[in-house]
Amino acid sequence: MFGRPQLVFLLLLLVAGLAWLRLPGDEQRVRTALIMGTLVEIRLAGDPQQFNPAIDAAFAEMSRVEKLFSSQLAESDVSQLSFSTEPFQVTEESAALLQRGRQIARQSDGAFDMSLGALKQLWGVETENPQVPSAEQLQQALAGVGPEALQIEGRTVSKSNPHLQIDLGGIAKGYAVDRALEILRRAGVTSAAVNAGGDIGLLGSREDGKPWRIGIQHPRKQDELLTTLILTDRAVVTSGDYERFFEKDGVRYHHIFDPRSGYPARDCQSVTVVAADVASADALATAAFVLGPQQGLQLLEQLPQVEGLLVAADGTLHRTSGLAALEP
Ligand code: ADP
Ligand code: MG
Repeated sequence: MFGRPQLVFLLLLLVAGLAWLRLPGDEQRVRTALIMGTLVEIRLAGDPQQFNPAIDAAFAEMSRVEKLFSSQLAESDVSQLSFSTEPFQVTEESAALLQRGRQIARQSDGAFDMSLGALKQLWGVETENPQVPSAEQLQQALAGVGPEALQIEGRTVSKSNPHLQIDLGGIAKGYAVDRALEILRRAGVTSAAVNAGGDIGLLGSREDGKPWRIGIQHPRKQDELLTTLILTDRAVVTSGDYERFFEKDGVRYHHIFDPRSGYPARDCQSVTVVAADVASADALATAAFVLGPQQGLQLLEQLPQVEGLLVAADGTLHRTSGLAALEP
């Protein structure tokens, strides 16, 4: 008797990619909400009474962004674009984010790809029934994907292949954090940190005027830090293979795909990117993860205001030339 191979399902939801360095007595300054399938933490300095409405507004803004870009909600801009076989008018905001994503798709030679919706569904890494697809299934899911899969003219988006499914999972969470920070800034907040499962946006410095200290988690040792980054007014995002994955026959299959093979990218354990905004850091971390330590480092090195730390599959660390200036 040959039973179906058992899939060991190890989806680890709500595990932040980065560990905060806790300060004594700051528990009451942190509020959390579940948005985009992730535990989002907002940390503020100042009077909680005064800033609670601003935090409510920031969470509401992130939920609004989720509704615009979710592949789960049929009425979202992204879902409607996925379903449509004709050129489709998206909102100005969606068109702008798609443009930014396409720029990073081009810069990364297609490693970052917003047209992997069918591939993501096929693997089902974050579902209760993940599977390792067949070669034919992979070929089908990859038909027409690539950095030029979407033509964007103003608000009108056309797909090179009418069946292409759009997935903004590699950039939308970062964008949502950018929007939350903007709402807090407009409400007069000058010191805040927003962490959406490893996508971190920092407004100003800490309450005591010192820079934020962000611990970067070791991808294989849960309670160990690789390093600490000392940052003010910056974004820092970690993409790893240790948060959302399943194992089958001793092989780990995670949720960041190499568009060339259709398989999870194999050359990194984690990539941390520091950038001016969270959406860019989010997409670049995904892109560099796919490109691997050598090419990924090259991509990050050539971009102004961007630094990175890549952990290769063999556990070796690779830093951009300016990263050391951000470490203690
Ligand atoms: P997380 O969402 O866990 O923070 P990432 O930012 O690395 O991790 O994004 C992973 C998500 O991005 C996947 O769940 C999927 O939706 C999407 N994705 C997977 N592979 C790619 C890729 N090569 N390019 C762009 N997006 C991708
Ligand atoms: Mg990402």
